[in-house]
Amino acid sequence: MIYLDNNASTRPAPEVLAAMTQCQQNHWANPAARHAAGQAASRLLEQARAQLAQLLNGKPRQVVFTSGATEANVQVLHGLTPRDAGGEPPLLLMSGIEHAAFLKAAQLREAQGLLRLQLLPVDAQGRVSLDAAQALIRPGVQLVSVMAANNETGVLQPIAEIAALCRAAGALLHVDATQIVGRLPFDFTGSGADLASLSAHKLHGPKGIGALLLRENLAWPALLPGAQERGRRGGTANLPAIVGFGVAAQLAGQNLSEAALRQAHLRDAFEAQLAARLPLRVFGADVPRLPNTSCLRIGALHADAVLGRLERGGLIAASGAACSSGGQQASHVLRAMNVAEAEAQGALRFSLSRDTSAEDIAAALQIMGEALAPLAQAA
Ligand code: PLP
Repeated sequence: MIYLDNNASTRPAPEVLAAMTQCQQNHWANPAARHAAGQAASRLLEQARAQLAQLLNGKPRQVVFTSGATEANVQVLHGLTPRDAGGEPPLLLMSGIEHAAFLKAAQLREAQGLLRLQLLPVDAQGRVSLDAAQALIRPGVQLVSVMAANNETGVLQPIAEIAALCRAAGALLHVDATQIVGRLPFDFTGSGADLASLSAHKLHGPKGIGALLLRENLAWPALLPGAQERGRRGGTANLPAIVGFGVAAQLAGQNLSEAALRQAHLRDAFEAQLAARLPLRVFGADVPRLPNTSCLRIGALHADAVLGRLERGGLIAASGAACSSGGQQASHVLRAMNVAEAEAQGALRFSLSRDTSAEDIAAALQIMGEALAPLAQAA
């Protein structure tokens, strides 16, 4: 099987699995306990925190472990100050291409009167419009949330420019860094972000573990109250997963730029060879993208028809976001980019990882050629 759905989830690295198993077998004591076994577990917890902080150029105390990026994102919403200076619910600006679960959580809070929500539009390439950002990021906005890289198109967002606008307006900036971490360098301290979210399973770590990063001295209320994580996230730490996350972060930091270049090269060759054989539209092709992501449409083919054939041929890919695939509605990301509904229904996402080889890409192209020839003729 050729697996090109790494933006949905990546294969846990063997080193991650080994460290997790070792932890399960030998360090099952509660890391909050004072006895020696608990203290040994606690040292592993702090080692993982340091490994993650190092990858993100942060300090260990800035890392709060959560159950994943979804929880970290919701903790960001939860921590907004309930009333602004004028007594109104907080004003939140979010890009219209944030992760679907995050948008949903914000919309739910808006419906409950807990916040006021404004969406930042994106251009036809899927990048947040800086003109719109300049007009909308103004005094009175409590928090701006823009992802570093989009999960469907891979398009990188202008975080440095948005951070400067936030600073000028006195607004906090949250960056969902889930898709960029482990694929390109992400310097939390240098990014200008006050908060960031990420998830281990996108960087060859385990599922069900993620982190919220907090700027130094930024106090942020817990979503789950409790003593753990310095009072910022209650509940017994999921130590095996945290240990796996730490190892995944350490591995991701090794040869990160080299791995990114190699993936970009493979991805570009994949797109070029497909374009030579089939009528292709690549979404976000004209702006900087993650090196591993290709979101494209082949002729007038519907994504479901293509994906079924590819899977039967041994190639796994996705249509838009994993969470929205299966549904009939076109992706909210492509709709925000003003892609026509019929075109968006054809969008396919191929996402590589550092494990993807040139042979995998050659095999993927062969499978696509064979599976799609009859459809492409009809298209
Ligand atoms: N944010 C982005 C940009 C994502 O791509 C994802 C995963 O698909 C999430 C958040 C959710 O992450 P998790 O699975 O850790 O909840």
